[in-house]
Amino acid sequence: MSIRTGDQYIRSLRDGRTVYYAGERVADVTTHPLFGLRARQIAGSFASDGSALAAVTSQLPDGELVHSWYMPPRDQTGLLRYIEMESSDHGGGHGAIMSGLASLQLVASRADSELGANYVARVKAYSDRFIRDDLHAVLAMTDAKGDRSKPPHRQADPDLWLRVIDRSSEGIVIRGAKTSVTDGALTNEFLVLPTHAMSADDAAWSVACAVPANAPGVLLISNYVGAPWGERFRFDRPATFNDFRHEVTIFFNDVFVPWDRVFMDGEFHLTRDLIRYFTTFHRSGTLTREPRDTKKLIGAAQLMARYNGLESTGQVKTVIAEMVETAQLLELLRFSALARTQIIEGVCVPDSVACNLAALTTARTRPGYLQSLCEMAGGPVLTAPSGLDLENPDTAELVKKYYVGKDGVSAEQRLGLVKYIYDIAASDSAGFARASSVTAAGSPSAKRMALTRDFDIEACVALVADDIAGARAPQPAAAPVA
Ligand SMILES: Cc1cc2nc3c(=O)[nH]c(=O)nc-3n(C[C@H](O)[C@H](O)[C@H](O)COP(=O)(O)OP(=O)(O)OC[C@H]3O[C@@H](n4cnc5c(N)ncnc54)[C@H](O)[C@@H]3O)c2cc1C
Repeated sequence: MSIRTGDQYIRSLRDGRTVYYAGERVADVTTHPLFGLRARQIAGSFASDGSALAAVTSQLPDGELVHSWYMPPRDQTGLLRYIEMESSDHGGGHGAIMSGLASLQLVASRADSELGANYVARVKAYSDRFIRDDLHAVLAMTDAKGDRSKPPHRQADPDLWLRVIDRSSEGIVIRGAKTSVTDGALTNEFLVLPTHAMSADDAAWSVACAVPANAPGVLLISNYVGAPWGERFRFDRPATFNDFRHEVTIFFNDVFVPWDRVFMDGEFHLTRDLIRYFTTFHRSGTLTREPRDTKKLIGAAQLMARYNGLESTGQVKTVIAEMVETAQLLELLRFSALARTQIIEGVCVPDSVACNLAALTTARTRPGYLQSLCEMAGGPVLTAPSGLDLENPDTAELVKKYYVGKDGVSAEQRLGLVKYIYDIAASDSAGFARASSVTAAGSPSAKRMALTRDFDIEACVALVADDIAGARAPQPAAAPVA
């Protein structure tokens, strides 16, 4: 099989999977008004032809055409392409799986050489089949976890972290739940990975494998999101009028996984590296997405000030200068991440310090910038009439007369921008994005831990100890002042 069309992807979702949404079983995700909408968006990234197809496909050595988003980057150019694809509309949903498969490949060779295991061949065979069949997969990592202060083996209920409960010559049986899985109702496969680094006592929870979305024993509950506002409200919600995004909790109720789909089974000592590689790849998306999004905030701030006739005020200039400082810093981090790469087992890995710093910088600065945007837009960010009132002949002229900006700026222009700021800074979608920015792809604490892990704090202590010891050592007598 070669690359699939959007229709083939949609048909592949009609496989008897068990999905619940808003308290009801969803009979067919492809015809459900909300899941169907999102399925068609994902399908759009498959269905390309001509030059669009050339931009998202690569040839395997045997000539077969496959989607590029599944090919691990081999050099810095490939890494840049991967990162750009990962943060684009086309590749966004697909690239994450490459992070998982590439990270598994990196630790598989260690398992094989240290333990005589056979993981490299398995991961390669699975990846090859996956890429050639052009499947869609999402990552199932985040465990339910229970008491966060305790590791898996000390939980009151051992199922709170996904674990292996049985093993035979055919494969393993897993039980547990993975939470917050993006687009989980619209995927062909789940790539199950451990959430945290594990210790020897947690070997049964050190498991990585691939599970089809319709495997017996898999049950999905999607969170309730509500319907998007739709085309009619395009003016009022320019960024999100047609967005439906959902996250699922996947319940693995004693699910059988054959050996050719098992990529880690008890190798707890490899979990730390697996997660390190994975999070570095996964967070590298911030390297293009965040500089671009920060530039959009700068653009919105500058335009709002211009429309309101306040472009030259000191307060506005200070706010924008701070945003520019962050945009520049993010550009430099992108440069560092792509310059300080490592080639591990033939895969080009970006610098993890730069990736984590970029994510932390964004999480720290973004809420303040969004607040400044709301301040600049004023009350209308929450209270202005709708774009529909601009179209209604009964009200249009009034709205057009009173919502203008400075001379030459029409009400349509000013309200269009105000609604844009509402959508990214004050709406329910903005709240989602805000919470997501401090949780998705790991909390700030997890990113800080990743930053400090390889930093030599004891060398800092030694510097101070040296200074103090130097101060205590006998000093040559000072020359008498003439
Ligand atoms: C929009 C969105 C999309 C996501 N998509 C996916 C996805 O596709 N696949 C997937 O697997 N996951 C996904 N996630 C999950 C995401 O990776 C997790 O939310 C994140 O790793 C945090 O885990 P948690 O939610 O279980 O929070 P918790 O681990 O419960 O953390 C909650 C808070 O407690 C703190 N904490 C936890 N343990 C300790 C401890 N021992 N000591 C001190 N403090 C602690 C954390 O730092 C955090 O501040 C998504 C999340 C969001 C918001």
